[in-house]
Amino acid sequence: MAITPLMPVYPRSPVRPVRGEGVYLYGEQGEKYLDFAAGIAVNILGHGHPHLTKAIQDQAATLMHVSNLYGSPQGEAFAKRLCDLTFADTVFFTNSGVEAIECAIKTARRYHYAKGNPHKHDLISFSNAFHGRSMAAVSATDQAKMIDGFAPLLPGFKVVPFDDLDAALAAIDDNTAGFLLEPIQGEGGIRPASHEFLAGLRAACDEHDLMLVFDEVQCGVARSGQLYAYQHYGVTPDIMASAKGIGGGFPMGACLAREKAAAGMVIGTHGSTYGGNPLAMAAGQAVFDIVADEEFLAEVRQKGERLRSALEQMIPNHDHLFDSVRGVGLMLGIKMKSESRAFVNYLRTRGLLTVAAGDNVMRVLPPLTITEEHIREFVEALSAAAAEYEVPAAAA
Ligand SMILES: *Cc1c(COP(=O)(O)O)cnc(C)c1O
Repeated sequence: MAITPLMPVYPRSPVRPVRGEGVYLYGEQGEKYLDFAAGIAVNILGHGHPHLTKAIQDQAATLMHVSNLYGSPQGEAFAKRLCDLTFADTVFFTNSGVEAIECAIKTARRYHYAKGNPHKHDLISFSNAFHGRSMAAVSATDQAKMIDGFAPLLPGFKVVPFDDLDAALAAIDDNTAGFLLEPIQGEGGIRPASHEFLAGLRAACDEHDLMLVFDEVQCGVARSGQLYAYQHYGVTPDIMASAKGIGGGFPMGACLAREKAAAGMVIGTHGSTYGGNPLAMAAGQAVFDIVADEEFLAEVRQKGERLRSALEQMIPNHDHLFDSVRGVGLMLGIKMKSESRAFVNYLRTRGLLTVAAGDNVMRVLPPLTITEEHIREFVEALSAAAAEYEVPAAAA
């Protein structure tokens, strides 16, 4: 048998973490890594954060799971907290990002159905988007590696160029339900949308009664230096998907919506066995205890600026490798002069974890709890690695 017991869908690196402590991960042989990948923007409090760990331990010992057939004091409390802190009036809890997207898509379609317009089922989405790996989520992107071999894709998605307002507006027709997009594209290469683009989509939604659906699975939960990236832009969605950082490493997600947008989501229209169980709610609350705080958010912005300017100062010393820095808060990317994957692999051998992304970008997504020390350590090690790195002939 040639296939591995773990289905071989990931190009797994030789890094094999068995323990984490703050901003560091440790491998099977005790190798130490500075983790500026954070489980792809998930471990926002780092590894083994005492407040999060204790909340999960206590809740696991008290009550882990009950059915959504029963009342949920834990879910009600966390949903209320999310509503108080955002545009939303109601929340559906999920176990992952793609499930939050699934709920968002269903909510948008159902809004028009409930208004007597069942033909308004198409979402306009954007090139290089990443919304997860379900059939609906891959149908909303044009990335070949996600859709090849999975035909027939779901109908009801129209992909147009990202950050191109004219193209987005031109795609609106009588079947349009709304727009689905990441305000800051993650997987696609850390590409923040322009303010004009988001504001233009908002205006079009208001004019044509469409749903503005934001995928904040990666850019949300304090990553941008605001609790959610839409707050950074001052452009409010009707529906929003949140996940990744929301559980700080505990698998969970949430679909947030305005009351108007959720008009079709009545009893029986959606569900999840695990979604919003007491254990997940305890994790979410513990994360929010720390990040839903003006001082914490200001520190994220400040550390983001520090890290960005340190990277910008370093880049000209290695201009054969690096092109520019992009991103918002602690959601940063270094645009490279060639494919980023080989360099990300090389950094692993030097004890630095980052994440490759599209558009030749290396993502820098540290825990939001990093200190000045960690920023210095990262930039120094990155610079030393860049000086010794030989660009593979194929990529040069
Ligand atoms: C990671 C991600 C998803 C999918 O989340 P999963 O938890 O892997 O299902 C969706 N959208 C964006 C923007 C993401 O970064």
